[in-house]
Amino acid sequence: NISLILVMINLVIITSNTIVATNAKSTHPCSPFYAYNYNLVCDNSTLTLASTDFGGTVHEKPLAVLEPTSVTEISKLIKLSNSLSTPFTIAARGQAHSVEGQAQARDGIVVNMTYLNGYRHGKGIVIVHNEKDAWKSYADVRGEQLWNDVLNAALEYGLTPLSFTDSLFTSVGGTLVNAGVGAQVFKFGPQISNVHELDVVTGKGDLVTCSEKKNSKLFFASLGGLGQFGIITRARINLGPASPKVKWLHLLYSDFSAFHKDQEYLISFNRKSDNAFDAVEGFLMLNQWPNLLGFFPTQEIPRINSLIAQHGIIYVLELGKYYDNTTQDQIDQEIEHLTSGLKFVPTFKYVQDVSYQNFLNRYANVGQGLPVQPQSWLDLFVPGSRISDINEGVFNNILFKQNLTARGIILVFPMNHTKWNDKMSVAIPDEEIFYLVSVLQTVPANMLKAFDDQKNQILEFCEISNIKIKQYLPRNKTHEEWMEHFGSKWQNFEDRKNEFDPKRILAPGQRIFN
Ligand code: FAD
Repeated sequence: NISLILVMINLVIITSNTIVATNAKSTHPCSPFYAYNYNLVCDNSTLTLASTDFGGTVHEKPLAVLEPTSVTEISKLIKLSNSLSTPFTIAARGQAHSVEGQAQARDGIVVNMTYLNGYRHGKGIVIVHNEKDAWKSYADVRGEQLWNDVLNAALEYGLTPLSFTDSLFTSVGGTLVNAGVGAQVFKFGPQISNVHELDVVTGKGDLVTCSEKKNSKLFFASLGGLGQFGIITRARINLGPASPKVKWLHLLYSDFSAFHKDQEYLISFNRKSDNAFDAVEGFLMLNQWPNLLGFFPTQEIPRINSLIAQHGIIYVLELGKYYDNTTQDQIDQEIEHLTSGLKFVPTFKYVQDVSYQNFLNRYANVGQGLPVQPQSWLDLFVPGSRISDINEGVFNNILFKQNLTARGIILVFPMNHTKWNDKMSVAIPDEEIFYLVSVLQTVPANMLKAFDDQKNQILEFCEISNIKIKQYLPRNKTHEEWMEHFGSKWQNFEDRKNEFDPKRILAPGQRIFN
């Protein structure tokens, strides 16, 4: 009897969308018809989880959560929404490592991508190893997979993805809609520059394979497209040969100018050049600073602290040099040679030997699971020509003088525009060298406002000083802010939205079109 009723309801839906749309009970995703036919889950704890993310400050409750067992189910759900006169919004949720509710959908449906993994039977990552030329190897990876799992699967063949973020516990789809930047970005570009092909379920519900040559509009729109055009269900990712070991260095600078000039010098080496560092990042030490993985020897801490006390801010150049069969003497000599002209404070050079995996996982302690305390984060791409102004106005004046104490990290490192493809959606500064400046803080709940006010002051300072930053993982709220953010790319962005998601169904948590 129940199935007969369901068939009848189904017929009514097919013959008249208007009836469905006006009949609140039958359109509610938790009504027996929808929940039963679409694997929708509506219990309170599932809905609460879907309205939580890494940031812990935005909580938008969806009507239901789709726990998909196949890509077809995602496509069916999007088509259903399109068929209604009042479509519901849909947000893919990877690992919810967003901090501003980007993976949430108020009164819409959240697609919990992690469920797909259970139905892959271990086939979510397929490595294709080119034995003649390891640089031509690739991985076919499903959108919900974790970068950590991609890395482990590739390492079994002596291979590795080329570009990583500082957390390996985000999903492939979740980072590809942003950019994916980290220590290797200067050499290989962001993660979005290392993708050959995508499968995308568009905002109309069509499953489309796209690449630079095939359906290229969707391909370029999706990379860095903040989830606005489709849900990424597969990505073909570049791989290259992996080295088992890494020399991991921290060089301490008291002079910002020497620090950023050395960074820029180090990123000017060519791709695949042996005689260069493989990883370049940087961070600040002021009041509280991260001793990553207990990097610094305990007996050195007083000396480092007195250097910080003397100068206020210390800039740490973080480097990685991959190596394999070289002897310790040889690699030590190479490191000596590579660091010989750098202008760090003499004797403040620290080197550790770590495995490749441990190096990539050096921030892992902050990336697994969702934290209990709220996060106050701001990520900016800053034109290289204005980075000294950021040092003066943001690091020295706002951050150092206000001295709000929080656990976290302040990152600053440069990258090359040439490693980015301007056809992709992501907005970046219009200069050959630009920096990532990230102020990432875990804060006490009662101090959240003070920290967020500080982030707004930083944005105001950039505005007043006419520093043409682009926000990364943007916090924009209004339509006008988004138009300004994308600048000359806006028209294209909007046109692609009209083409691939005309009913504005996808990724409402980014607050671009909703
Ligand atoms: P979610 O938060 O689940 O989703 C993010 C957005 O992507 C949402 O709009 C969602 O709807 C959409 N989305 C999710 N999956 C898909 C899909 N398959 N297809 C289409 N859209 C989808 N970023 C860097 O670049 N470099 C870093 O070094 C870095 N370090 C980080 C460290 C930590 C501890 C954390 C928490 C974040 C870090 N990030 C970094 C940011 C991170 O890359 C982004 O927040 C990323 O979106 C997280 O992926 P996720 O799977 O958690 O995505």
